[in-house]
Amino acid sequence: MEKLKKILNRIDNKGYKAYKDLQGQTFNFPDFDLDFYYIQGDPFAGPSQIAVKLDQKGARFPAATFSNRVRSIALNDYLTRILDQKIKKICRGRRGTGKSGMVAVDAPGQEILERSSVRVTPAQVEARLFLGLPARGRKILGRQAEEMLLEEIPSLVKSALFFQSLERSPLVNHIQTAEDQVFMRNELEEKDLIAFIANDSILPRRSGIDQRPLSRREAMPFHSPPSLEVELNPPHAGTVKGMGVPRGITLIVGGGYHGKSTLLRALERSVYNHIPGDGREQVVTNPESLKIRAEDGRRVEKVNITPFINNLPYGQDTSSFCSDEASGSTSQAANILEGLEAGAKVLLMDEDTSATNFMIRDMRMQKLVAKNKEPITPFIDKVQQLYSDLGVSTILVIGGSGDYFDVADTVIMMDEYKPRDVSQEARSIASDYKTLRQKEGGEAFGEVLKRKPQPRSFNPRKGKKVKIKSRSDEAIQFGRENINLHNVEQIVDPSQTRAIGDLIFFALKENIIDGNKPLAEILKTIEKELEEKGLEMASPFPNQPQGNYARPRPLEIAAALNRLRTLQVRV
Ligand code: ADP
Ligand code: MG
Repeated sequence: MEKLKKILNRIDNKGYKAYKDLQGQTFNFPDFDLDFYYIQGDPFAGPSQIAVKLDQKGARFPAATFSNRVRSIALNDYLTRILDQKIKKICRGRRGTGKSGMVAVDAPGQEILERSSVRVTPAQVEARLFLGLPARGRKILGRQAEEMLLEEIPSLVKSALFFQSLERSPLVNHIQTAEDQVFMRNELEEKDLIAFIANDSILPRRSGIDQRPLSRREAMPFHSPPSLEVELNPPHAGTVKGMGVPRGITLIVGGGYHGKSTLLRALERSVYNHIPGDGREQVVTNPESLKIRAEDGRRVEKVNITPFINNLPYGQDTSSFCSDEASGSTSQAANILEGLEAGAKVLLMDEDTSATNFMIRDMRMQKLVAKNKEPITPFIDKVQQLYSDLGVSTILVIGGSGDYFDVADTVIMMDEYKPRDVSQEARSIASDYKTLRQKEGGEAFGEVLKRKPQPRSFNPRKGKKVKIKSRSDEAIQFGRENINLHNVEQIVDPSQTRAIGDLIFFALKENIIDGNKPLAEILKTIEKELEEKGLEMASPFPNQPQGNYARPRPLEIAAALNRLRTLQVRV
């Protein structure tokens, strides 16, 4: 500590570059070690990164708080949140030019994800923080740096990273809530369900850009219709009752503004665990559920979309379909086939974001436009084959077409935000009023290609330098290319996007993308490596673990690969 103080004194008022002396150095404080992983080049550049490391002899987290993977993820997440709260209390923030004075941790949102911000092991607690080392203009403010590093950081550590200083019951609740969700998600499989929504869950959010729950005063809590009610038995909460969504084909119907999309969005995000108080902390979805939507304008590289699209004008091939600018329907077809290739087990679709001509083609239109003039086989004619041939279930929001009653196993009607099981009614309507439309789907679903991404089609460099950067959660700059993830709706955290960019680079560097491995195998290999080495492995810089990664699902890594505009594959 004294040594650091001396250095700061010495470089006070010098040019900003003098901070670089700190990079790679470790300083011993009474309660912890402080490592300087990375020092920024100037006060406007990306922040510096430090790690504080405490011995468990002092931190004293009971083994039970991190004794399995789920607990350890939940504990790390919890401590990250506490750090974020305490930073806001303890650290003064702005002191000088640019980011000077800033202290930050990679703060999570409503989901509990595996992150690289905090790591608790049997031996130690490590937390990674981002700092704006202070300067006025380009001159080092040594005194201010001293305040940050020798006063603020130690009191932050004291208040956030010692078990003794934490309130016990919210910590335990956080861990147990996460553990229960994983347990319930596993129970789905045994019970032939693909989703579960506990009674009393709060599904609506404050707004499109605010994922916190609508207040209990404004929100109608969810209650299962009696016929769909099931019980799950997570270890901590005990018996939980709620609506089970069975495998097969489920429709969510109902009038406009009655809560259909809100229900689907809750299911989309419940592939992840939610924090206590979120309202969705007892909502769980099959972990391999994938949101499918139309995404016109996206690029598609050699996808077999013949299950849905055939006979395009001018004889364009659809068994290995390429497009730099796919249409609504072709992009939706490609999203499904790519999803299946990457291992999706449940498809989630909303009419609000689907191409109409992809979803339906009614009897009258069949009469007017002959089949050989219509390239599209609508989803309604393939959805049952998806289940019978591939075991892939679908949950579909569709208020606009009763034709789907013919193919549905379960029909849930949202009525003033309340779900009703109308499966029987829908079935009798379907038999009383025949649609008279012709089935167009053929005998079998069709083939899902195993495409092999070619490494030479990836260039992580811009000029001579590797350049991989994420912009918000919606885009990755990969070399000269921009990967647009705006429509990949199950990326829920910008730190997942960051991890995806660096994981793709990792997979290239490590020859996992070797030109011979099919995409699904690439994803499996990345997963296996992540299990062994942790998220830190994604860091492109040796000896600089990044404190701002969150774990993406393989399905979203695949989504990013598929959206790289230069991607080439062999089939
Ligand atoms: P739909 O898809 O049926 O047209 P939405 O799901 O978009 O309807 O919901 C319409 C509005 O109602 C949204 O503003 C949403 O936040 C709100 N809402 C949805 N579910 C609830 C609920 N359970 N309680 C209160 N408001 C809700
Ligand atoms: Mg809607």
